[in-house]
Amino acid sequence: MLCVILLDSKAQQTELEWISYPPSGWEEISGLDENYTPIRTYQVCQVMEPNQNNWLRTSWIEKGDAQRIFVELKFTLRDCNSLPGVVGTCKETFNLYYQETDSEVGRNIRENQYVKIDTIAADESFTQGDLGERKMKLNTEVRIIGPLSRRGFYLAFQDVGACIALVSVKVYYKKCWSIIENLATFPDTVTGSEFSSLVEVEGMCVSDAEEEADNSPKMHCSAEGEWLVPIGKCICKAGFHQKGDACEPCGRGFYKSSSQDLQCSRCPAHSYNDREGSWRCDCEDGYYRGLSDPPSVACTRPPSAPQNLVYNINQTTVSLEWSPPADTGGRNDVTYRIMCRRCSWEPEECVPCGGNVGYSPQQAGLVDTYVSVVDLLAHANYTFEVEAVNGVSDLSRTQRLFAAVSIATSQATPSQVSEVIKERVQQRSIQLSWQEPEQPNGVITEYEIKYYEKDQKDRIYSTVKSRSTSATVNNLKPSTAYVFQIRAFTAAGYGTYGPRLEVTTKEEASGTTATIVSSEQNPVIIIAVVAVAGTIILVFMVFGFIIGRRHCGYSKADQEGDEELYFQFKFPGTKTYIDPETYEDPNRAVHQFAKELDASCIKIERVIGAGEFGEVCSGRMKLPGKRDMSVAIKTLKVGYSEKQRRDFLCEASIMGQFDHPNVVHLEGVVTRGKPVMIVIEYMENGSLDAFLRKHDGQFTVIQLVGMLRGIAAGMRYLSDMGYVHRDLAARNVLVNSNLVCKVSDFGLSRVIDDDPEAVYTTTGGKIPVRWTAMEAIQYRKFTSASDVWSYGIVMWEVMSYGERPYWDMSNQDVIKAIEEGYRLPAPMDCPPGLHQLMLDCWQKDRADRPKFDQIVGILDKMIRNPNTLKTPVGTCTRPISPLLDQSTPDFTTFRSVGEWLEAIKMERYRDNFTAAGYSSLDSVARMSIEDVMSLGISLVGHQKKIMSSIQTMRAQMLHLHGTGIQV
Ligand code: AMP
Repeated sequence: MLCVILLDSKAQQTELEWISYPPSGWEEISGLDENYTPIRTYQVCQVMEPNQNNWLRTSWIEKGDAQRIFVELKFTLRDCNSLPGVVGTCKETFNLYYQETDSEVGRNIRENQYVKIDTIAADESFTQGDLGERKMKLNTEVRIIGPLSRRGFYLAFQDVGACIALVSVKVYYKKCWSIIENLATFPDTVTGSEFSSLVEVEGMCVSDAEEEADNSPKMHCSAEGEWLVPIGKCICKAGFHQKGDACEPCGRGFYKSSSQDLQCSRCPAHSYNDREGSWRCDCEDGYYRGLSDPPSVACTRPPSAPQNLVYNINQTTVSLEWSPPADTGGRNDVTYRIMCRRCSWEPEECVPCGGNVGYSPQQAGLVDTYVSVVDLLAHANYTFEVEAVNGVSDLSRTQRLFAAVSIATSQATPSQVSEVIKERVQQRSIQLSWQEPEQPNGVITEYEIKYYEKDQKDRIYSTVKSRSTSATVNNLKPSTAYVFQIRAFTAAGYGTYGPRLEVTTKEEASGTTATIVSSEQNPVIIIAVVAVAGTIILVFMVFGFIIGRRHCGYSKADQEGDEELYFQFKFPGTKTYIDPETYEDPNRAVHQFAKELDASCIKIERVIGAGEFGEVCSGRMKLPGKRDMSVAIKTLKVGYSEKQRRDFLCEASIMGQFDHPNVVHLEGVVTRGKPVMIVIEYMENGSLDAFLRKHDGQFTVIQLVGMLRGIAAGMRYLSDMGYVHRDLAARNVLVNSNLVCKVSDFGLSRVIDDDPEAVYTTTGGKIPVRWTAMEAIQYRKFTSASDVWSYGIVMWEVMSYGERPYWDMSNQDVIKAIEEGYRLPAPMDCPPGLHQLMLDCWQKDRADRPKFDQIVGILDKMIRNPNTLKTPVGTCTRPISPLLDQSTPDFTTFRSVGEWLEAIKMERYRDNFTAAGYSSLDSVARMSIEDVMSLGISLVGHQKKIMSSIQTMRAQMLHLHGTGIQV
């Protein structure tokens, strides 16, 4: 917190020359303050004369960018009783005013232009005793003005007949001091105009840092000038890493590839860099980084050649096989590719094999160490090169390394004659023509045409030879179907026959018909079998469980059972809460736990609130033989459904099981008449949150702790009964006329349909986020330990007189801040011991939170020893307590200054502290910011870190010893 002083009368050595009217009133007098420093004061003491009206106006005060101005007055005031003969004329107060203007105005004081701030009275330190032993006591009062709309203002003091010495007038406003948090700089920020307003400030990343995606840094400047709730963060850019509150470049030989990485890393194998701030390292000569290689992997090189290449020839097919290379280049993505070349015999000249050659499984990208090359030419010379390649082969400009073989294919017969056409069909002859086979594999010397009569049983073949690619077959029968096949002949022998061609000769009298049937085209009958899988769905009746979540429903088996007996048996000696849901018949639950009242005994008087199911009224109840009493009556609105009636009465079924002075007491129910009613003891002061807001600042700390003690005792009782409340909040605590607090709101559907604070979370169900423990929000783990968390929030609500937890932050921001480890700071004037108890209730691990039993014990101890409830003094000097980081070290455990510096990562200044004589933590706890600066610590960020740690240390020492260290 930074206080910007606008006026400090003590700081001025020359005359103040404020305007005093009438001149017989306030008088400027030089004096000495409590430390015997010369100061200028104004005094007035017209106590003998009646009807005094003496005004004193300050010089004009320019407000700058302030919104909320603090006026601190120090003064002494004579006790009228100590002045003889002044009865009736002597006063013991004076009035404080202000006037807003845009510039200085004249010297005349026009009373009606001033706005009254307050009547100021001295506190208990009146002057007492007779004149000889009188000791003047200094009073300090602080008042707040704002928001202001003009450029400046005057303060004025109106005396109406008191004996006052105005020793000092200090006017200031508060700023949140510029700070670096999570690598973001937050500038000096003027606080908001309202006590409860937070000013949201965007952080600026420090140099060489950038905002984390979707998580831009924000903080909130509170009205007290404290930074609260850091959310989001900056992170060091690629090439930089975090050192303290700054980003430093990675050193030589190191790199950081992304802002997401925390640390710089040493360059991976076969890479280097000789610059600072690198995001990657360069590869050594001959080494490369593949296109998809991340910067963190070593640089690699192409593999060596495959080894042990062997081959096998089968006519025009060559099979190759090899072993992997001796050196994979440091990678495991080695594949193989084949280069095929056909070479002429003499002179040897080679050309690529081209597309006519086939590779099985493929030519490149081979994972296995073999390949077959097919459709080579017969009797030809080939060379095959097998190359191993990896992810960096194509990047390398070094010479290719491969294994090679030269192979000559053997003689091969020609391939099939496939395209046969019937040229001319006669009664007794057929003329055919065809194409040369695709691979003749030599010189074709002749073709053989084989044919037979299609319907002839014993299939006698005839053949005809031809040197060209056409032939006429004669001596056939008319009207007869013949089947033809043709093959080619070279020096290597006959090729295989081509497909069958069916041709029918012409009829004797008329023409012929011809059909070509290829044997490969035999009709294929596809039989599709559709298997129809018949799905038989068996429906099983599951019996035994009929669980109505929001109903008072349950299984029959338990209907005759005695649940209460069962539970009492289970926990001997402890009465246990029975969930009304376990009753099938809700009426039975209600009447087991609640007394049925006669409607004629109840008189409704007025409406006091609205409940989920209808109005809440106050009224009176007079039972036969008993005194009439005030009651609250919850009614069920007309036109209710059966479910609403059940849910409404469930609250009575729950409340009726409790009997404790800090839990609201159920008087009974009216179910056999209309309206249906729940009758509860009357709590005159209504709900606690509204009550505290109405009486802001009016209770002593002991009174507030007394209320908290009551709530804790009620909760201890409920948790002992095994009841988890789930919605403990000040709005659900009621207060009676004796300030006794009682826990209430036990709706069955209580989480939490009727609570306006409850919002839907991602885990389903509505949750009052600000009051609820992390584990309950995240995975609906509601236990007495999560009730303890809520209790901690109630403590905070009580100590801040009904302030809204986390002020105007959004629920999302609250969840985020809590997850990041931050906690609500101590409310104004809250004893550190109480805040420590709140922090204990908000421990992340629920096993670490105190039990209600312990909480009651701690509060009882505080009430017995009110010294432990003392708050630190001062306005501008209150210890800074940002939403506390749970990782804050416990200073009371450190044994030396060195240990402490180490814990806050400031051990580099150990010698500075020693040299200046700060050898104990006690002496450190007394240090001011000037002391810290005088040690030669020049970095502002470090000064602040040390100072904030010293302030936390003070608070913890205060908590531990109950003694104030003068700040
Ligand atoms: P509820 O439905 O319990 O939240 O009650 C609604 C409002 O009625 C509360 O916020 C109280 O202001 C008021 N109220 C409920 N019960 C009582 C009671 N026993 N005595 C006085 N006021 C009550």
